[in-house]
Amino acid sequence: MQPLVHFKNVNKYYGKALAVNNLDLQIERGRFVTLLGPSGCGKSTSLRMLGGFEDPSSGSILLDGKDVTHLPPHRRNVNIVFQDYALFPHLTVGRNIAFGLELKGMPSEKIHARVMELLALVELQDYADRMPDQLSGGQRQRVALMRALAPDPDVLLLDEPLSALDAKLRHQMQIELKSIQEKTGKTFLFVTHDQEEALTMSDVIVVMNNGRVEQMGDPHTLYARPVNRFVATFIGESNFLDAELRSVDGNIATLDWCGHMIHATLTGPAAKVGSHVTVALRPEAIYAVSREPDRRIALPGRITNRLFKGNFTALTVGLNEGQSLVAQLDPVALAHLEGDDVWIGWREEDAVVLAD
Ligand code: ADP
Repeated sequence: MQPLVHFKNVNKYYGKALAVNNLDLQIERGRFVTLLGPSGCGKSTSLRMLGGFEDPSSGSILLDGKDVTHLPPHRRNVNIVFQDYALFPHLTVGRNIAFGLELKGMPSEKIHARVMELLALVELQDYADRMPDQLSGGQRQRVALMRALAPDPDVLLLDEPLSALDAKLRHQMQIELKSIQEKTGKTFLFVTHDQEEALTMSDVIVVMNNGRVEQMGDPHTLYARPVNRFVATFIGESNFLDAELRSVDGNIATLDWCGHMIHATLTGPAAKVGSHVTVALRPEAIYAVSREPDRRIALPGRITNRLFKGNFTALTVGLNEGQSLVAQLDPVALAHLEGDDVWIGWREEDAVVLAD
């Protein structure tokens, strides 16, 4: 199927600095897609190139199969929501939403119906005649979103729209944004540096770093099957073990870590037997027991730190070989204390051999 948006080998230079490096990205219609990465990695620039606010230095951008690379913003059917969600202060809620439709020359009865339909979507039917300063912050944001959706854009671009909000409102808006996207079936391209925000809302996350795409996938896959250290640490936390690949059976690798045989899942093509690779292991995938377990993976160590974190307890386990791993365990079931000797292990499907 033809993607709705296609960035084809797009580069963007600012002077000599390469802000977006060979972006090749396809976005399907109706998805909530998030560009996620640290500040300065090229998220905004990518979004703005799709919006027509920046010109790519090379490559092309297709929207619904049509080359829009050099079209001005008003000639492409996308709309952008900025961080401040500014509404026109002198217009009512209804007129704010109607604004883009009036510009398009839509007949007034149709505009009225569309405005009421959009207000109903966010349960603000009774607010059409209010002025923006009579609304709460959350309500203003919902109106701004409806204003952006009113002209029925192919893609709605959202550039860190929640970053100025306090934690509670940000949480509410995450759920609301996702629900609006689902109800309208519109394609959202969302930019954030906040991994939790990306995990909560997205169908697809595109992890970027230094202008490049590191990995793209659904939230669960990115979390469970990161391809490299950057993704494994940018999304959630990970422990890393440098080990030597000994053998491969199906997608399970057997590795030598400091003389211990350990096991982990391969996510890509296997490296050569004998080569050094990195295994990534989530803290919550580790278990700790007092006696040597009768399991395939068992490493001895001692608890050097125990921190109660509410819904989990973080244990730092100093392994006998000198490396420390962090484990997250259920505080209710946890009997181990700081200074205790323990054996740790994990299910081989919960650890991954990184591709690079
Ligand atoms: P992000 O959205 O991931 O924080 P940006 O896309 O805003 O990153 O920026 C990517 C890189 O391009 C950064 O190094 C930034 O400093 C640079 N950059 C962005 N906009 C401009 C500009 N108008 N002029 C010069 N450099 C820019």
